[in-house]
Amino acid sequence: MKRVHVIALVLLLNLLLPATASVAQGPLDYSAEIEAETVMKHVRALSVAIGARPMGSEAEALAADYVAAALADWGYEVEVQTFETTPPGAEAVATSQNVIATLPGDEQILVVGAHLDSVDAATGAGDNASGVAAMLAAAEALRDAELVHTVMFVAFGAEEGGDPSGAVFLVEQLGPELDNVIAMINIDSVGVGTTVNVYAGATITWPEDESEDAAPTIEGGPTWVRDLALDLAAEMNLELGTTPDDTWGGYTGDWSDHYAFVLEAVPVAYFEAWQWEDAEDPWWGQETAEGDVMHTEGDVYESVVPEKVEMTAEVLAAMTAAIASGEGVPAE
Ligand SMILES: [Zn+2]
Repeated sequence: MKRVHVIALVLLLNLLLPATASVAQGPLDYSAEIEAETVMKHVRALSVAIGARPMGSEAEALAADYVAAALADWGYEVEVQTFETTPPGAEAVATSQNVIATLPGDEQILVVGAHLDSVDAATGAGDNASGVAAMLAAAEALRDAELVHTVMFVAFGAEEGGDPSGAVFLVEQLGPELDNVIAMINIDSVGVGTTVNVYAGATITWPEDESEDAAPTIEGGPTWVRDLALDLAAEMNLELGTTPDDTWGGYTGDWSDHYAFVLEAVPVAYFEAWQWEDAEDPWWGQETAEGDVMHTEGDVYESVVPEKVEMTAEVLAAMTAAIASGEGVPAE
């Protein structure tokens, strides 16, 4: 059966069900529901209308307002959590914020997060308006979902080297509640890059010796969140990769917001568009065959590939539904 027929059939079956029934959505429903146009509207709002969003700036706060308003519009309970942070190289502290939207369920929590801030030099379309856009599209698609566990969508502030970052601050605030966090999914830079990938988290130790080929020690954490994403993507006919066997082996490093959760033994998955094969530096990789635009003036709206952000949102919505319904979580 052609995929389009399957989708049409699923849509028809949904129409035939009484409106009051809670409709269990399958992965293909999210593919049908989430459109590139919708995700790119968010990328444009953040990276073109607002532009560069350095931590503590008015632009970062405006971006937080945009995200909070969208989530509140879809019926989410939204909290803006402000915190003091020291930007890299700065002496004075700045005020940044995490925007937290909750889809209520039981005491078990799935955290889905993407950072809102950018470096000064870039409009941060890829890094990370694209990740926030994917998260927003997934949140919109899930707004009426009836799930078992609580989902916490977080747009983090101060990821680009803030001390603390929004993710570190949230982890501190969660305190003992961290025991109830089933998993954390991080979406950072999914718009620019050869392939969309998903990684598992690992504890990383970099060697003292900083020579070119010095490899980190990787102590791999749980892999089920990554593997759920890979399985769902296969089911949805979407091309999702991971890191090569001879370097990161399906794991990733200690940068970005997932790492605060890795250090607390929370299972994580991290979505990123990147080129790992044939990269000059096998440990760092590069975004495209021409190199990186990340943290440069080249990180603009026009560099973002709509389909990459769209597919990330689709897999993200499907895996959020799978984990928060309890079905995607391995038995202890
Ligand atoms: Zn980033």
